[in-house]
Amino acid sequence: MRKYLIAANWKMNSAPEGAFDPESPYQTHADVDVVVFPTYLDLRDCIEAKILSGPQYGHVEEHGAHTGDVSLKMCKDLGCLYALCGHSDRRGEHGETSEQVAAQVIAALECELHPIVCLGETLKEKKAGKTEDVIKAMMAPLPLESDLTIAYEPVWAISRGDPNTPAATPEDAQQMHALIRSMLPDDRKEQTRILYGGSMKLENAEALLGQIDIDGGLIGGASLKPDQFALIIEAASKLST
Ligand code: PEP
Repeated sequence: MRKYLIAANWKMNSAPEGAFDPESPYQTHADVDVVVFPTYLDLRDCIEAKILSGPQYGHVEEHGAHTGDVSLKMCKDLGCLYALCGHSDRRGEHGETSEQVAAQVIAALECELHPIVCLGETLKEKKAGKTEDVIKAMMAPLPLESDLTIAYEPVWAISRGDPNTPAATPEDAQQMHALIRSMLPDDRKEQTRILYGGSMKLENAEALLGQIDIDGGLIGGASLKPDQFALIIEAASKLST
């Protein structure tokens, strides 16, 4: 059985109060892997608090004339273990292409960061019946034979601060996860974790995480509420036993 991985994407928000306390839910748990993606400003505090963490984006080159950027290698040297790649905010707001996302995944692997690579269709693509083609195109340049994690994040389900945004139903999410798993190389199918992201919260976490091909969550809004986040981890923990 794949171990659940619950990842917090704090996006452009400061760390929640108490996040660095030794008893905070962002700390690692025995039966569930917990990872935090804070802003660069909070990365060092996360690492010093022994929270497994990584950048929300990192430049593929180690250093150089890239004003405003921070490299994946610099994050690794700071003590990061993970890297988020290809979040829809980055693809949408910064025009990151699937090829550029794949280059980030490769650069992360090269400096021994574990990549969590995001992919998912927009509402327009879903309505046009293009979901499968979009997912295939996003997966095509990825080094799927490597040790990486995929986060299926339908863009239309991402809350962007609106708690009423509907998540994918557990059944629909499961169908997509099964499809994504079927696209993995045979020897990676069983071990690759596929997380669901998009309005995962206390109310739907158990049903989503209970699906056979859903191995965890990438959580935005609810990850900024330590109490909620703790209960989502608890739900994953119960399902693990
Ligand atoms: C995200 O942006 O990765 C995300 C899943 O956000 P939320 O949980 O708020 O929908």
